[in-house]
Amino acid sequence: MPDTLFTLPEPVTLPVNGETARYPVGRVFCVGRNYAAHAAEMGTEVDREAPFYFTKSACHALNSGCTLPYPAGTKNFHYEMELAVAIGTPLFQADLTEATAAIYAYGCALDMTRRDVQQALRAKQRPWDLGKDVEGCAVFARLTKAADMGHIGSQKIGLSLNGKQRQNATLNDMVWSVPELVCHLSGYYHLRPGDLILTGTPAGVGPVVTGDDITGSIDGLDPIQLTIG
Ligand code: MN
Repeated sequence: MPDTLFTLPEPVTLPVNGETARYPVGRVFCVGRNYAAHAAEMGTEVDREAPFYFTKSACHALNSGCTLPYPAGTKNFHYEMELAVAIGTPLFQADLTEATAAIYAYGCALDMTRRDVQQALRAKQRPWDLGKDVEGCAVFARLTKAADMGHIGSQKIGLSLNGKQRQNATLNDMVWSVPELVCHLSGYYHLRPGDLILTGTPAGVGPVVTGDDITGSIDGLDPIQLTIG
């Protein structure tokens, strides 16, 4: 190790069912508009030519069960419940079979968003970073290995805010399937273990306030919980 001027934080790590070792968070890729009903509620349409992405800093990942302070710079902080895909083997320019084989695990995730900032940036055709790459904005539950999850299809994905259901869909409502997303993204990045993909959110996104309790679930996976502090 070279001598460094200061020490950076250790990588955020996620627990994995059936493992004592944890999954370190490398890169966080997020898919935009992957559920038609959510694209519509945002006043947009899904792009059926190709998926599109934004990224979140790995150091902004947070474990389920944490309290996230209401962030500065927004008056409309939103939850988005998503399926996270964790890559387990190196992958570049993969086909669908290779993409499927490279998936190590799945988990519940939250893409927390400064919606007002995102929409203002979108209107000006500027990058979304201030809206999306918020400190503590990528929340991950305990991962479940892909073999234990089985085929991605009719599993329910849902989110409740203070006990009231706000999002309710099934994973096969996704416009781009998980293998299609991994395959497509591997055309641009040398994907590797530690890379996580948030696969988009269903309709029903909305704002949170200090004191709110967010719980999310996907059939077959460990649930996710976040408190807004
Ligand atoms: Mn999202």
